[in-house]
Amino acid sequence: MNAQSQISALEELVFENRFVKELPADSETGNSQRQVLGACYSQTLPTPVPKAKLIAYSTVMAEELGIAPTSCETEDFVQVFGGNRLLSGMQPYTMCYGGHQFGQWAGQLGDGRAINLGELVNKANRHWTLQLKGAGPTPYSRSADGLAVLRSSVREFLCSEAMHHLGVPTTRALSLISTGASVVRDMFYDGNPQVEPGAIVCRVAPSFVRFGNFEIFAARGETNILKQLVDFTIRRDFPELGTPSVDVYLAWLQEVCRRTAEMILHWQRVGFVHGVMNTDNMSILGLTIDYGPYGWLENYDPNWTPNTTDAVHRRYRFGSQPQIAFWNLGQLASAIYPLVENVDALQHALDTYKTVFETGLQAVVAGKLGLKQYDSNTDGELHAQLLALLQQVETDMTLFYRNLALVNAEVAQPDTVPEEILLAPLMLSYYVPEQLTPDYKSQMADWIRSYIKRVQREGMSNTERAAIMNAVNPKYVLRNYLAQLAIDKAQQGDNSMIYELLEVLRKPYDEQPGNERFAEKRPDWARQRPGCSMLSCSS
Ligand code: AMP
Ligand code: MG
Repeated sequence: MNAQSQISALEELVFENRFVKELPADSETGNSQRQVLGACYSQTLPTPVPKAKLIAYSTVMAEELGIAPTSCETEDFVQVFGGNRLLSGMQPYTMCYGGHQFGQWAGQLGDGRAINLGELVNKANRHWTLQLKGAGPTPYSRSADGLAVLRSSVREFLCSEAMHHLGVPTTRALSLISTGASVVRDMFYDGNPQVEPGAIVCRVAPSFVRFGNFEIFAARGETNILKQLVDFTIRRDFPELGTPSVDVYLAWLQEVCRRTAEMILHWQRVGFVHGVMNTDNMSILGLTIDYGPYGWLENYDPNWTPNTTDAVHRRYRFGSQPQIAFWNLGQLASAIYPLVENVDALQHALDTYKTVFETGLQAVVAGKLGLKQYDSNTDGELHAQLLALLQQVETDMTLFYRNLALVNAEVAQPDTVPEEILLAPLMLSYYVPEQLTPDYKSQMADWIRSYIKRVQREGMSNTERAAIMNAVNPKYVLRNYLAQLAIDKAQQGDNSMIYELLEVLRKPYDEQPGNERFAEKRPDWARQRPGCSMLSCSS
């Protein structure tokens, strides 16, 4: 079979809607908001939009789904992924879930503005659920409108594809479509509502089930449905664990812990801050999900959060992500307690997270520094010293690690190399030159000398070391201001920068001569601009 015959037109796509087929449905249909009891989902149709228009699509995602790129440019595609038309085999539904928001139980949340269209089976027999975000009110919309604005949709579309190519587990994005509808948003909840263009992203994942899908049934004492959902999830998404039983439930929790730890390790490696790590935003598959007020670290600052809604307590700041993920897993473990009834066994399963995270962090540190093997006698200290230095003056995290690979470690006597030569490759990563006092420079030079000596113990050439480092320290990330520039243009009807970024971010570890402008540190104008360093949950 040649590649061409693997690619279908839209009407040939095959759906096998297992979530809908195998789990209990809400007996009420329609999209009026309500508490949905005794059910995992509600049948919900997208609300038609006035003027669906294609803004962008991901050819990589389309190919994975088996959709020919030419099909993505058809009117049918725009109508289907703009929410105006269904393909045969689609059975739209919204899921019932709850969640802990900012540490507090928040009751029923659910797919308030996401509508699952169906579970597509591609030619390689992989299952992908297609979901529209921003396609109108659902039973779970509470007092909100079920819509999404263009700016947040551009951010979700670009970031999910960028994260995928960085090697970070994530939900994906197929398309970005403007709806022609106006959406009112008060971006900073400060009494300044604005009319904004509406848009819909088609998100794609093997499953959109969240920790909160399990928590809601535990909170309501609906143990029977809880068990149905856990068994379904294990059979569908974790078949390698075997037939569901108490032991398998524990093995499953361990596996969720392992995947979550891996995801967080990637976030810490690339400098991604999710911004709203509520348990309803935690994927059971360990995927990054719900791109809202996320951001990328510019200057390395573990206390930073892009989310102005969380500015006071900074619960979801960069440095807290590993602990918050563990706390969230604890909520998942509590939710499945009725099926296991053994606190010690659940606790033991949760410990998997710590073990995987701690070992994984050593590998991340070794990779970022270009060491073949982490040596716990020396490298913890070396790394801690570096992190302290990075925080003392505004240092761009991405540029610093990328350029650390350019430090020449093939020198006979590191102690005699002059400071200026040691620091030269790193100078581009500093935001405020005045902060580079003689004292600071001398401390940093000393650190680099220790680093060179450590690297020399590995017996690698500069080239070998750079190869290790450049495979884990990206050159191109979706810098906050780049996303905002693409949004500014798209709001003027120019979608070119969305495509430019999509293309550059497909190869984040490559040098890409000619594209260096996308690897530059945040310009000064972006320091305090909304959308660049400050975001809110309003989207
Ligand atoms: P988030 O903070 O984006 O994770 O959203 C928390 C909950 O609010 C989820 O149940 C969302 O579906 C819901 N939600 C957020 N924005 C909207 C909206 N514009 N319309 C309806 N529901 C929403
Ligand atoms: Mg959410």
